[in-house]
Amino acid sequence: MGELFCFPLKQNIGAQAAPAIVKGDTIVRGQLVAYKGKNDLGANVYSSVSGTVTEVTDEAIFILADDDQKPEYKKLKSDTPLALIEESGLVGLGGAGFPTYAKLNKPFEKDGVVIVNAAECEPILEHNIRAIEQKPEQLIRGLEIAMEVVKAKRGIIAIKGIHEKAVDAINSELVAKKNSRITVHLLKNLYPMGEERAVIRECLGTLLGVESLPSEAGAIVINAETICRIQEAVDLKKPLIDKNMTIAGKLKDDRKLIQVFYDVPLGISVGSMLKRAGGLADDFGEIIMGGPFTGKRTNLDAPVVKTTGGIIAAECFPKGPEKIGLLVCACGANKERLEEIAESLGSEVVGCEYCKQAHKVKASLKCENPGKCPGQVQKVMALKKAGAEAVLISNCTDCSNTVMSCAPQLGLPVYHCTDGALRAVNQRIIRKIS
Ligand code: SF4
Repeated sequence: MGELFCFPLKQNIGAQAAPAIVKGDTIVRGQLVAYKGKNDLGANVYSSVSGTVTEVTDEAIFILADDDQKPEYKKLKSDTPLALIEESGLVGLGGAGFPTYAKLNKPFEKDGVVIVNAAECEPILEHNIRAIEQKPEQLIRGLEIAMEVVKAKRGIIAIKGIHEKAVDAINSELVAKKNSRITVHLLKNLYPMGEERAVIRECLGTLLGVESLPSEAGAIVINAETICRIQEAVDLKKPLIDKNMTIAGKLKDDRKLIQVFYDVPLGISVGSMLKRAGGLADDFGEIIMGGPFTGKRTNLDAPVVKTTGGIIAAECFPKGPEKIGLLVCACGANKERLEEIAESLGSEVVGCEYCKQAHKVKASLKCENPGKCPGQVQKVMALKKAGAEAVLISNCTDCSNTVMSCAPQLGLPVYHCTDGALRAVNQRIIRKIS
């Protein structure tokens, strides 16, 4: 019996796609199953498997995969790079889900730069860096295509200096290709170096306002895997049907706590991916889809979607204090996520404060100067005054360091939203910077 795949109609920022198939249809891998409206900001959806449509709801398409799957796929039809990128259904694969063609459809009028965001900002996730180590040529070719499409004079690959093997692989490839229009910018190993405006600040020295777009700095920022999938869409006419990802945490085989999978078929379930990683350990606290800072709690039946970068089985929750205060970061877990963690700790939330650099922009928060602490003492004191016996925070590395310089002195133990994930892979938790 084949496996059931689920393709949500909305996997992107913007409009939902409309089904292009009906129940009972026979589908081949790479076939369009839902399309974006002609004038919508949206993204097509393709089946990653051959099989039969079992259900079409208002939200998703379900396909029972044939037992025998082949790697071949139905090719895209467009004949220009930008049209192929749009047709492919490609969106920002780092988690944002912004349709990629919409980033590339306004060429620069004068000097412009395309920046590849290869920060792999979230702890534990490794799939971007491992892919670059193995195929630096794909990253560079994808960047060349993006530069060509928007008529950019320069390209920059922003990557953390700690990833020496990947940096060496990129530099060797650039030398071999004699490409002097593309350079490498080394980032510090801090969270959130991969935030779009942090990447621009680090690479170009321009700090954009919270409501500004990268175009105001003459830049377009694209995640590393997205750049590689641009190469596939344009050179191979491949729709977005596969995804790289990291599976980590409380797995049966405790010698392989972090595993990278390449070209996972979209729509596969979280449970199937965990099985591919050897299965879940008997005890775990929660399953997180995404990275430790910004990931959300998920379940075994949830599908892998375009923006899924990681699946992490976190450590069991410890017993928390009776009353806890929340300190929310614009670039980490939001209030709802911290409330969910507090509930799992068995703690009552008695107060909630926001980092003073977190500003509301539309429905979400944006940091004024990502990763540069504005001070947290007042916020921690306000939580203590509200009756908190401990604080649960989602702050960046620099701000967590500041919280650690005051909360313990005030008699408040500190919990961080990333603790369960990092403990599950035996990595150092986010507290004081050494
Ligand atoms: S400065 Fe504040 S809002 Fe900005 S990243 Fe750090 S904790 Fe988050």
